[in-house]
Amino acid sequence: MTIFSFFSGASRALGSSSSSSKLLVILSISSGGLVAYSESQTDAGAQSAEIKQKEPQKKRVVVLGTGWAGTSFLKDLDISSYDVKVVSPRNYFAFTPLLPSVTCGTVEARSIVEPIRNIIKKRNGEIQYWEAECVKIDAANKKIRCRSVIDNSLVGNEEFLVDYDYLVIAMGAQVNTFNTPGVNEHCHFLKEIEDAQKIRRSVIDCFERAVLPDLSDEERRRNLHFVIVGGGPTGVEFAAELHDFILEDLVKLYPMVKDLVKITVIQSGDHILNMFDERISLFAERKFGRDGIEVQTGCRVTSVSDKAITVKVKSKGEICSVPYGMIVWSTGIVTRPVLRDFMDQIGQNKRHVLTTNEWLRVEGCDGVYALGDCAAVAQRRVMEDISTIFKTADKDNSGTLTVKEFQDVIDDILVRYPQVELYLKNKHLNDVKDLLKDPQGHEREEVDIEGFKSALRHVDSQMKSLPATAQVAAQQGAYLSSCFSRRQQCQETPEGPLRFRDSGRHHFRPFRYKHLGQFAPLGGEQAAAELPGDWVSIGHSTQWLWYSVYASKQVSWRTRFLVVSDWTRRFIFGRDSSRI
Ligand code: FAD
Ligand code: MG
Repeated sequence: MTIFSFFSGASRALGSSSSSSKLLVILSISSGGLVAYSESQTDAGAQSAEIKQKEPQKKRVVVLGTGWAGTSFLKDLDISSYDVKVVSPRNYFAFTPLLPSVTCGTVEARSIVEPIRNIIKKRNGEIQYWEAECVKIDAANKKIRCRSVIDNSLVGNEEFLVDYDYLVIAMGAQVNTFNTPGVNEHCHFLKEIEDAQKIRRSVIDCFERAVLPDLSDEERRRNLHFVIVGGGPTGVEFAAELHDFILEDLVKLYPMVKDLVKITVIQSGDHILNMFDERISLFAERKFGRDGIEVQTGCRVTSVSDKAITVKVKSKGEICSVPYGMIVWSTGIVTRPVLRDFMDQIGQNKRHVLTTNEWLRVEGCDGVYALGDCAAVAQRRVMEDISTIFKTADKDNSGTLTVKEFQDVIDDILVRYPQVELYLKNKHLNDVKDLLKDPQGHEREEVDIEGFKSALRHVDSQMKSLPATAQVAAQQGAYLSSCFSRRQQCQETPEGPLRFRDSGRHHFRPFRYKHLGQFAPLGGEQAAAELPGDWVSIGHSTQWLWYSVYASKQVSWRTRFLVVSDWTRRFIFGRDSSRI
């Protein structure tokens, strides 16, 4: 930090204290000491108050959450025009794609987290962070109520209120148990760092318990039955990690029980990894079959007790009880209660998840944005706006649309309704003129409203909701921070598409997700990847691609170094089986 920035920072901090009538600034310079002393006079105080009034007040931005969406928003935000406060019960960012590796000690927990204070330090400390959770959003009064999560005998108020001009909700979601009895009491989740650490201890517990003397084979077998509920990417990756841990490390340490170990994946759908390309899910099922991991598809867990898990086979209606040693529950996510309450306040109580418009703004609430896993973007349908689109495009009010009139607005349509572009691509239509062709395929000079409706009637079928992934959350954070940083500029010169239901242009372009592909590590140094352009890659080389992508995606050089050294340690010495 330069002396100047220190000075300006210090003076800003002191200037903000209204009670200080005397201003003492001590500048220490290594070569000696310079002491500057200034006694503020009464009229000087009045003058500074006047100056303060003239200075435009910085807008207060409150960010809830320090996950993928929240930190990505903070990373590049232009903080010169905002007063930014962050509230989150977690004082670090966690690189969740490597959480399954933490469950077996392939990577250490501290290697994949970055303290939020380090991130703030990089922003010259001008962002304030409070370790607390938001317990209530009062959108009518633009306030949030927060409660400290530090559960001990430290003194001071636990609860406090924070005012905002803009609220950025990025608080993620919680595990969905579907209200299945016994899940909260007996299952592990794999959502947070603490969950992964608990799983790591629990796996070792199962083995240590199984090798105690005087246990029957049946009891040992039960202790060593690992059940994973949910065949999505997290469940599958954990099953693969656990299989590697057992095969590469634990069988050598517990040779007497190696034949009693079993891993079962229970999936309610017909295939595991069903959000991936079919080739990937079939490969994963075959690989798991070879590895001895049992995959039970079409099964729903109806309850969990301390000894057994009850499963219903959907096709036959049969119910069976399966004894287990440890269960990991990984079946998706659901909205947090504080957001449910907020949704009730703003009339979104019928929805499953907090919904925003394409600019990530919660509609009907002034200055509230939501991003990441806690929200869903509601893409507007073309057919809902078809008449207003037609009217805007029909510049000469002739009641018909010529090809030229359509071409004049097509760029705005493509930006405002991305499903149109997808439709054109999927139907291999190179020119928008092709859209206006009549049912026999003949070009038309102009169309009326009915012709226009029928030309666009199928485009909305291309609408897809965005997945709850880190990729989406990070891109949304970066998008919103770029909008915040350019607010003034875009208000003067809007860059968005035409407002079809209104006049003028939108200030910003709507959020557009760019899918960069996704990985599914399958164990045994093999992975599958779905890459942009419908490419599928499976095998050992994909695992190396996975290593390089995840090393490069680390948020700091410190975590990158730690993760790569953990991988190297594992290659050389194997995983650590201590129960710490
Ligand atoms: P989160 O990252 O969950 O962050 C939410 C933040 O809000 C946290 O800091 C939390 O402490 C805070 N918070 C919670 N409650 C409150 C409150 N009341 N007030 C204030 N703050 C609050 N995605 C991928 O793209 N690729 C992957 O490989 C991948 N692997 C995954 C593996 C696992 C094991 C898991 C669990 C997820 C994985 N994901 C992956 C999904 C990805 O982690 C999520 O989509 C992503 O974390 C969503 O980001 P977010 O910022 O919305 O929420
Ligand atoms: Mg016309």
